[in-house]
Amino acid sequence: MGKSSKDKRDVYYRLAKEQGWRARSAFKLLQVDEEFNIFDGVTRAVDLCAAPGSWSQVLSKKLKRQGDVDPKIVAVDLQAMAPLPGVIQIQGDITKLTTAEQIIGHFDGESADLVVSDGAPDVTGLHDLDEYIQAQLILAALNITTHILRRGGTFVAKIFRGKDVTLLYAQLKVFFKTVHVAKPRSSRNSSIEAFIVCLDYNPPADYVPNMANPLMDVPYNMENPIVGSNRVVVPFVACGDLRGFDSDRTYGLEFEGTPSYESREPTQSPINPPYKKALELKRSNFYNNSL
Ligand code: SAM
Repeated sequence: MGKSSKDKRDVYYRLAKEQGWRARSAFKLLQVDEEFNIFDGVTRAVDLCAAPGSWSQVLSKKLKRQGDVDPKIVAVDLQAMAPLPGVIQIQGDITKLTTAEQIIGHFDGESADLVVSDGAPDVTGLHDLDEYIQAQLILAALNITTHILRRGGTFVAKIFRGKDVTLLYAQLKVFFKTVHVAKPRSSRNSSIEAFIVCLDYNPPADYVPNMANPLMDVPYNMENPIVGSNRVVVPFVACGDLRGFDSDRTYGLEFEGTPSYESREPTQSPINPPYKKALELKRSNFYNNSL
């Protein structure tokens, strides 16, 4: 493909180069702002998954000095990013608590007014898997956001409008008073990409931010660190006649009530079990003959 053919095919790619943006995605954030005014009154902003840095460029251009407070922008990415004036960079993983702590450290303990995340994993081409990994990345972004966003703050993140997206909206609504989905003009119609715009951060009263993934990070022998409304206890009920047979015990073949034991076939054998072929080979002595 010649140099000019991508310029022709993708007007935003061409405009990004003409206007000095590092990526065409700059227009997506600018168009989200045209609709929602997400930069109004913002002095502390975090750009998660920021490389190569076009959203950080937008932030540094749009955030204005408020009274005597200069804007502060912190950008995070796994990848190294070329320096940008006015942007503090952290090369790190947004799923890690240490990254949240580093961000807060740069704000001198204060929280952010705005968190944006354009995170995308490396695409595998398997749509279900890609959507799932993207959803996990958004949850990681939301998780880190709960550590760093002030009450009333705004969170904007890229999503894929896949099958399970309504579950994600429900999860976001727990934390924000208003959740919109925006499709900027610069985002291709052929793509299921869109952006959630979550306004007015309002976590449940007893919510305690926690980066632990209970399935992965917390050994069973440790005291469970999940507390407040994060912790859900469901009733554990033993059922069936407790005087009945004990499923962990071995019984003799003949005992009271069943005096003469007779072995029977299962009522219904599996129709086409995955081990059928192996059984046939075993019956034909295949394994012994091939040794
Ligand atoms: N918004 C950027 C811009 O305008 O230049 C483009 C972001 S790019 C589409 C997605 C980025 O997500 C990649 O740079 C990738 O390294 C980053 N990323 C993916 N997983 C991440 C993670 N766990 N922690 C930090 N960054 C991550």
